[in-house]
Amino acid sequence: MNNSRNVVIGVDIGTTSTKAVVFGEFGQVVSSASFDYPIIQPHPGWAEQDPDLIFSAVVRSVNAAIKKAGIRPAQVKALGFSAAMHSLIALDEQGIPLTRCLIWADNRSAAQSERLLDEMKGLEIYQRTGTPVHPMSPLPKLLWMKEEQPPLFRQAHKFVSIKEYVIYRLYEQYVVDYSTASATGLFHLDTLDWDDGVLHLLGVTKQHLSRPVPVTYILQGMKKEWAEQMGVDQGIPAVIGASDGVLANVGVGAVSPGEAAITIGTSGAVRTISSVPKTDLRGRTFCYALTDHHWIVGGPTNNGGILLRWLRDEFGGQEREVAKKLGMDPYDLLTQYAETVPAGSEGLVFLPFLSGERAPYWNAKARGTFFGISLHHKREHFIRAVMEGVCLSILSVVLAIRDVTGSLSEIRVSGGFAKSAFWRQMLSDMLGKELLVPETHEASALGAAVMALYALGDLSSLEEVKQWVHIQATHVPNEKNTAVYLELFDLYERLYQRLKDEFDALSAFQAKYSRK
Ligand code: ADP
Repeated sequence: MNNSRNVVIGVDIGTTSTKAVVFGEFGQVVSSASFDYPIIQPHPGWAEQDPDLIFSAVVRSVNAAIKKAGIRPAQVKALGFSAAMHSLIALDEQGIPLTRCLIWADNRSAAQSERLLDEMKGLEIYQRTGTPVHPMSPLPKLLWMKEEQPPLFRQAHKFVSIKEYVIYRLYEQYVVDYSTASATGLFHLDTLDWDDGVLHLLGVTKQHLSRPVPVTYILQGMKKEWAEQMGVDQGIPAVIGASDGVLANVGVGAVSPGEAAITIGTSGAVRTISSVPKTDLRGRTFCYALTDHHWIVGGPTNNGGILLRWLRDEFGGQEREVAKKLGMDPYDLLTQYAETVPAGSEGLVFLPFLSGERAPYWNAKARGTFFGISLHHKREHFIRAVMEGVCLSILSVVLAIRDVTGSLSEIRVSGGFAKSAFWRQMLSDMLGKELLVPETHEASALGAAVMALYALGDLSSLEEVKQWVHIQATHVPNEKNTAVYLELFDLYERLYQRLKDEFDALSAFQAKYSRK
């Protein structure tokens, strides 16, 4: 970077907040600012957000980050955008929202998803588009809108994601990066254009959608009003960037083919890089675009750190009290107890599907199960079994990905779970693989900033990010534990297969007898 324009800003439009991060010449964080917004749930299973609140969070977070950094607008070299996948907003002819922003967590199109899979060649659609057919994605959401709200569907002039909406307001252009488009279920991975078959099925045309552009596309000519409010030069180049998931891989330095990133926050995901698009014969994994020769193959799991949080909140009153007295984090106390139990939790097995499961089973009706409880099991066994359950589900995703892309060369881990060295070691043992723990600060925002520099020609490859991502710890698998976990995984997999039908029965039972 030259001396005057020496910072780049990554803007990450996430589910809970938008964060703007100012990065210096070596990828170091100079400052950051974020603004939160709520998820609105007007009916059970719905999950919406206010698009204008998000737009305002984008403008305000950039402004606040610049102010905090104490820099002049002229020092900002570029903006780069990252955004959550799978959102959907219907707009009228003036670009005014006709709906709120339906987000990935919105489940209203569960019936449409099932029909797409059972009756409308959903698996073939997935194989062309890379997006698993699931209510998270815009395809079933659009089908829902068409069937359940026909006047609204007919009135809509455009269907866009939150990122397209923000860009439209800033630049008055309807464009969508290949990466965000590839997570809609409407985008053909080989032609890099909207899929005619899916458009026909929905009864929409390309005019209803934005123009797909590469992730290195440069937006210019921000409307004066917004440039002033953001505190940037109107002429500043902004690189459209990609989705938050794929940019998180860049931000942790897992960018070469075969390298993988595992994130376990509230939920979890495993993502690796493939040089060509690849989908699964059985529909277990996703394939999203990054660049022409970087495709992200991976799988999300619903059941990550939220399980330990559930254990802490519902059953960990005792630990919470003791931790408070000792000035400790209750999570650290819980994991210390778990450490006293050997691998395999002395015969206590936990299927972690408390919120159903996405990859690799894609079964919303699956539920959590403790198997093998006996009188010798104490609370520490339960804690350890839950932590092992999270790792088992990650292993099941890793194995599905391996079937699609081949073996993984290097694995980097991040997210709240990575605060526990014990849990990281458990995952290393479970996978039988070395794990690297990068120092991560806002991986998706860093990915967006790196993409901006790459698009401007300041970086010759995305791989250069590796110089900026420092490794703070490494875990080598303990072979004895790996052998235990191999057997445990067999049991886990068999238990799931045997319980599959019973989960359906349980779901019907629950619907019949639960309080409304
Ligand atoms: P998100 O951003 O998705 O909310 P976080 O990165 O905040 O995710 O991670 C939250 C989860 O990380 C918690 O629910 C918990 O399971 C796990 N976690 C956080 N701190 C610790 C810790 N000290 N030890 C073990 N797990 C932890």
